[in-house]
Amino acid sequence: MPALDPALEPVFDAVIARNPGEPEFHQAVKEVFESLAPVVRKHPEYMNAAIMERLVEPERQLIFRVPWVDDAGDVRLNRGFRVQFNSTLGPYKGGLRFHPSVNLGIIKFLGFEQTFKNALTGMPIGGGKGGADFDPKGKSDAEIMRFCQSYMTELSRHIGEYTDVPAGDIGVGGRELGYLFGQYKRLTNRYESGVLTGKGIGWGGSLVRTEATGYGTVFFVDEMLQRHGETLEGKRVVASGSGNVARYAIEKAHQLGATVVACSDSGGYVVDERGIDLELLIDIKERRRGRVFDYADEKGGSVRHITGGQIWDVPCDIALPCATQNELDERGAAALVTNGTRIVAEGANMPTTPDGVAVLRAGGVLFAPAKAVNAGGVATSALEMQQNASRDSWSFEHTEERLADIMRGIHDRVLDTADAYGVPDDYVAGANIAGVTQVADAMLALGVI
Ligand code: GLU
Repeated sequence: MPALDPALEPVFDAVIARNPGEPEFHQAVKEVFESLAPVVRKHPEYMNAAIMERLVEPERQLIFRVPWVDDAGDVRLNRGFRVQFNSTLGPYKGGLRFHPSVNLGIIKFLGFEQTFKNALTGMPIGGGKGGADFDPKGKSDAEIMRFCQSYMTELSRHIGEYTDVPAGDIGVGGRELGYLFGQYKRLTNRYESGVLTGKGIGWGGSLVRTEATGYGTVFFVDEMLQRHGETLEGKRVVASGSGNVARYAIEKAHQLGATVVACSDSGGYVVDERGIDLELLIDIKERRRGRVFDYADEKGGSVRHITGGQIWDVPCDIALPCATQNELDERGAAALVTNGTRIVAEGANMPTTPDGVAVLRAGGVLFAPAKAVNAGGVATSALEMQQNASRDSWSFEHTEERLADIMRGIHDRVLDTADAYGVPDDYVAGANIAGVTQVADAMLALGVI
């Protein structure tokens, strides 16, 4: 792992001291800083203007109480967050995560990453993230609605189409965004479509937004392969997770000729050598809110479900971690290397641990980081904002073509930046440097704010 530039060491030490108990945030900052030695050398003006110190300090952090009433009539309580990280390039933009693991450090890591991911898209969007430590699992529709309404009652004071534009993330999909938008509209008495993205088609949403993170991930992998004169045709793929990102990565990989043989959820993973049947997976996960084991039970035959071990033991050419942070560690990475995996591309946010990344790179695996690979979701959110601003709606084909163009652009920009900074073919450094320099240059132009 590259050492931190000495100029960045005190900045990183201050991050640790000022943000105690936030290991995921420390990890995300360190990962970016490790790429920045050539930037510090080339841009002394950044250090003179304390750009790095400012980049790691969110512009605003909101923590609020979210009380709600469950179906039994009992009052329940959760903690809500919105971290408005950086608005240099546009309104804060980033999803909301509802999951019991959510805390301030996790939202800060996600908001920090989002800032550079959003810069890489080339769209006018800043970075932010939010959520709550609410567990949607096992809750009724009515409970989900009451929770969303309470959460939005506070959040509505802090967002707006020119200020902060939330969207979905883990635990927040079309249903939740509907309840959130409905409550925002009721509180403000404004039909402000551009305040949220990921909306339903028919009330301001964009076609392709649902599919965009997964599709974009596979478009990115396709670009990586094309650079080596290859395609996805005939490739064997493993995608962890079975949520929004994994599902549409599976769909696009199949459309481009690959076979995705395994996917997972928190209860284990399934292996279907004929390729995961997406229709059945969506039916189980979305309509019935079931588990991937139900998939194995219903398919029967040679479909295997495994509770112990890790999905990374399944041999594949391409691995797509699409579930959550730190799901692919040293051990998983070693299994991938042993099995001859060629590419690991991150569909989820920071799914590979730093040790995992080191093992993959030492093993000669081509590794592409989340902030480049999964940027198609937020890029399509920006396309949704464009459609809302012009009161227009585009066709599926046109929107998908825009997404494919954006992913191509990100891929090429990452590699061009890596070349320009003397670290050729390094997707991690290229993505970090391109994202950071774009935000840093704009921050310099805007003065000390
Ligand atoms: N949560 C997604 C991400 O991690 C999408 C955010 C958005 O569309 O604003 O990028």
